Amino acid sequence: NSFMELNLSRPLLRACEVLGYTKPTPIQAACLPLALTGRDICGSAITGSGKTAAFALPTLERLLFRPKRIPAIRVLILTPTRELAVQVHSMIEKLAQFTDIRCCLVVGGLSTKVQVTALRSMPDIVVATPGRMIDHLRNSMSVDLDDLAVLILDEADRLLELGFSAEIHELVRLCPKRRQTMLFSATMTEQVDELITLSLTRPLRLSA
Ligand code: AMP
Repeated sequence: NSFMELNLSRPLLRACEVLGYTKPTPIQAACLPLALTGRDICGSAITGSGKTAAFALPTLERLLFRPKRIPAIRVLILTPTRELAVQVHSMIEKLAQFTDIRCCLVVGGLSTKVQVTALRSMPDIVVATPGRMIDHLRNSMSVDLDDLAVLILDEADRLLELGFSAEIHELVRLCPKRRQTMLFSATMTEQVDELITLSLTRPLRLSA
């Protein structure tokens, strides 16, 4: 019942240690081994359960294990709000502090120009709100999701409640078909189920 047993690489174990994570939370213990197999995951999990690290750690492990051949965005994490995007981005920076994985934040309210420069430098991971991400994909020729390996939909119920359904569907269409998708939601509504059917392939379901 430790992070060591979950087969994480040394830089990630070190980060967990520095952050004071002694043992995985239930959602992390359930999610990590399954996510590491590359299968799609849908999880019911609320804020405070440790769900961010539950999807971030296996994603970082995948990036460490399969380094990219060309600079590209490999992971897109969509969140319903700017505040959540900021939190997720900061968590990932902490977990990735002993790696050279780069993560960039793409949300409304920040300078578009600065974000375009950041996106053009091909960060490994982008944490974004849907509207702003679509703007960049539509308006910037050099930003695409063609080499994406992992798509994460965080707080899916809130993403839908806030009216992002069309944007999410458009973003899913812009991702390669062969990818890993993880979806997390506090509640499993009919709309969330539809999104699962549309964007996940034979997902493993977990709750914690
Ligand atoms: P989250 O549910 O992802 O918003 O995380 C809630 C809080 O729990 C954050 O402050 C994390 O830093 C913290 N946390 C996540 N995983 C662990 C863990 N395994 N041990 C202790 N704290 C954790």
